[in-house]
Amino acid sequence: MQTHSHTLIDIPFNQRHICWFCGEPSSEILHFPRTARKNVEHALLALPACKECDSIKHSRDINSIWQFRAHVKQALISKYTKHLAIGENWTKEELEESEFSGSILGGFGESAWHMYEIAKQRVAYQGWPLIVDGLTFDAMDDTSSFEFNGTCYASLRNCVDFFEKASDIDKELLTQLVEIVTPARFDYALKIAKLNKRISPARRTQIIDDIAIEEAEKREAAARSDLELSIEDVSVSGTIAPSFAIQWAIAKGASTLSELCPLEDDYFDDFQHLGGAAAFASYNGLQLYLEARENAAWVKANDPNKDVW
Ligand SMILES: [Zn+2]
Repeated sequence: MQTHSHTLIDIPFNQRHICWFCGEPSSEILHFPRTARKNVEHALLALPACKECDSIKHSRDINSIWQFRAHVKQALISKYTKHLAIGENWTKEELEESEFSGSILGGFGESAWHMYEIAKQRVAYQGWPLIVDGLTFDAMDDTSSFEFNGTCYASLRNCVDFFEKASDIDKELLTQLVEIVTPARFDYALKIAKLNKRISPARRTQIIDDIAIEEAEKREAAARSDLELSIEDVSVSGTIAPSFAIQWAIAKGASTLSELCPLEDDYFDDFQHLGGAAAFASYNGLQLYLEARENAAWVKANDPNKDVW
């Protein structure tokens, strides 16, 4: 219902007759909120909208135009899941090369890719900056959302729901995988879920366990390389034990002179490229360093790498 206090937003010349929510031609003026409500703190707005966006129902909990817009987008995603699914499950080239028609592509046949593009664009459309009576609209967009592949979902959960419907993935599997690999790597979790549709509970548990182990190993490797980067050269009695030699000893598990001794040939094989003299000098430095490390007081006072061992 329109009231006198709803103000039509400014409409740039090149955006005339365009739905502010989805970019389709507009035929309606949408009033938000429909009636003056206490929980909406900003000005009452009137916005050009298409028939479809104008007819989307919303609850009274929605208390800003930004929340309302997110709600409209999510409603469009739900309504056009089948259209959006085309682009999630196929590439344009695959569709062109395929001889599918009719029912296989949800009844869209040759226009399938076009239907996908329209739905994708409507969901992605951002409207124009809100200006009311020549003044920039100052209510901040406080909505959070989850963005994946150019589409903003109202939340991560909504995104998972979408892929359950669009790509028939195992919702439980995808949810748990995203938890393990973090939402920032949603694409990786989704790839695994797409390869493992219609799985048994045992198989699901196995995949989740495998990925959890893989991730833990990656984190350990990253921590190890951080540690390696922090290793410093050490000078003992004027001879340098270079950081690369110390890293080598740590990697080989040689933390004492007696553990290093049987590995001497390996060391010279690995550092042949340095040339005999330089390899020998570095090995000598390493020996002196490990020897010095046998004295706890020296380690405490002089070893910059004491936390690495
Ligand atoms: Zn619209």
